[in-house]
Amino acid sequence: MSIPYALALHGGAGPIRNSDQSREIANMTAMLEDGRAMLAKGAPAMDVVITVIRGLEEAGLYIAGKGAAPNREGRFELDAAVMDGAARRAGAVCALSGFRSPILAAKAVMENTPHVLLAGAGAKAFCAEMNLQPVDDPQNYYTPVASSMAATDALSHGTVGCVVLDNTGALCAGTSTGGVLNKMPGRVGDSPLIGAGTWADERVAVSCTGQGEYFIRAAVAADVSARMKYAGMSVDAAAAGALADMERQGGDGGLIAVDGQGRIALPFISHGMRRAACDGQGNITVDVFR
Ligand code: ASP
Repeated sequence: MSIPYALALHGGAGPIRNSDQSREIANMTAMLEDGRAMLAKGAPAMDVVITVIRGLEEAGLYIAGKGAAPNREGRFELDAAVMDGAARRAGAVCALSGFRSPILAAKAVMENTPHVLLAGAGAKAFCAEMNLQPVDDPQNYYTPVASSMAATDALSHGTVGCVVLDNTGALCAGTSTGGVLNKMPGRVGDSPLIGAGTWADERVAVSCTGQGEYFIRAAVAADVSARMKYAGMSVDAAAAGALADMERQGGDGGLIAVDGQGRIALPFISHGMRRAACDGQGNITVDVFR
């Protein structure tokens, strides 16, 4: 029996209730279609994760890539991670400035270094060495989508992420973010931390969005897999349980997860979570609020 492919993506768990999300819905629909078309032709999960996240980064509609917000000192520092569950390989960058695609930088770390995570100046030097596309004029390149939100608004999460099961049964996850609004210079969230905001293994692929500090302290992404592994939970129950544990600490947000059978979980405890998915049975979801 052939393995069904499946794909889920998110554009952050922070949309304010009743706000117009039509552009985000259109963009997520297009990214979902692109990803599905690749998977239908047999593309590997990692290629699909990267393509979808590149599209979301470039859209300028989320607090990631082009839409990222500056930190308190007006500088743009971005985080991203990818994980290949089948091979258990991962790459990540954090507090990266001066390069257009954090997700491509994360993939380059995975493929071209013996390390998992490069930070700040070291990450920047590595991206230059890899000839990744620079941002020469940050003030003109970035179009912070969050500038109209209150700087302290805890709900203004706009990270992007993607999880994929391909038709060989491989699972991959990726997450890319400009972080939270008004962050301190050097602040790193959960997105680039393997096991906190991003995780993939042979069982499940997970990408989180929300207040990163809480996701780090609850190791949410890896907790989804642990619940499936040790407690025999379904992906739905594991994702809901991991999120509830984080919520008990006072956090807020959501996650996307896909298991090895193409079952998808899209739980969130925030007002909404921009999300789109196609599960192993071909069921499509594109939604923002409840
Ligand atoms: N989790 C991200 C962070 O804390 C923010 C988000 O999801 O929008 O950096």
